[in-house]
Amino acid sequence: MFTTKLIKGAVALVLFGTLFSFSNLEEPVANAADASCSTGYVGLTFDDGPNPSNTTNLLNALKQAGLRATMFNLGQNVQNNPSLVRDQVTAGMWVGNHSYTHPHMTTLSNSQMSSEITRTQQAIQSITGTAPKLFRPPYGETNGVLKSLEAQNGLTEVLWNVDSQDWNGATTAQIVAAAGRLQNGDVILMHDQYQTTLQAIPQIAQNLKSRGMCSGMISPSTGRAVAPDGGGGTPTPTPTTVTKIESENMTKAGQYTGNISSPFNGVALYGNNDSVKYTQYFGSGTHNFSLRGASNNSNMARVDLKIGGVTKGTFYFGGSNPAVYTLSNISHGTGNQEIELVVTADDGTWDAYLDYLEIN
Ligand SMILES: [Zn+2]
Repeated sequence: MFTTKLIKGAVALVLFGTLFSFSNLEEPVANAADASCSTGYVGLTFDDGPNPSNTTNLLNALKQAGLRATMFNLGQNVQNNPSLVRDQVTAGMWVGNHSYTHPHMTTLSNSQMSSEITRTQQAIQSITGTAPKLFRPPYGETNGVLKSLEAQNGLTEVLWNVDSQDWNGATTAQIVAAAGRLQNGDVILMHDQYQTTLQAIPQIAQNLKSRGMCSGMISPSTGRAVAPDGGGGTPTPTPTTVTKIESENMTKAGQYTGNISSPFNGVALYGNNDSVKYTQYFGSGTHNFSLRGASNNSNMARVDLKIGGVTKGTFYFGGSNPAVYTLSNISHGTGNQEIELVVTADDGTWDAYLDYLEIN
């Protein structure tokens, strides 16, 4: 088996090399719109504003970099700088509640705690027309009483997955590096206050772009970053979105899995348990999955779709012409799920070539 596979691999390499030397028989698939957010969304957050000496610069930097963020404002700063709050919304930012005076919330009485939340809700609503749906407790300090008050005010608590440490003297390079650790759905803590943070914005944008990630909104239902719904504060119906991910951008696993450049840029799965996988965030539990692929010969190639470790169906490719096979109305878990494309039925008569997976 091992020898057979090595020979198959060697033959395939020679074949690809030959095709490649003719070059440009086929244009590489390039679809910037689909590819730009292919790895997912991250939540950029800036706390403690609005700040008369920083917010305008921050908003300009974000707009210039094509980024959107969630601003966790302090009620007292909102009260003192209403026009900056309007600027935040106009710039496409989302506005969250970060208490009124930035106290250690868990040391307060219930009524003090409640007042910190409700005064800020009212201050923001009176300016933007919409009460925030997200609350970040100062210092990330929370407890059961606070959580129940948040719930009573229609607020989802949002902490963070990555701390930029900008409040702790981190350099611009360190802040950029912190943002480089963000994965799909993650939220990063930054502040509307520091020059280091401001100067990190263009590089953060570049880093996210290079990884196929976009800045998104924080979902009030999950507290995780998701695709923007198009509105600053006004919820709109979620449009049908199509996620397209190239197989060569997924994580390769299995003994023989390898990249190919013909008949498309993609991945070849040569033997059983060869696979590619990645993590996909799902807000809802039913989707259609379309895989473009081919067999390496006239035999039927088979590739299983596994979601969260469970086999959900099989894609069939009846020959060496690339084709799209769709599995419709597949039910699966929500939140972050591992998507795996795996070969389990190879009897040595075919290899599976994978181009891209599309989810809608
Ligand atoms: Zn704060």
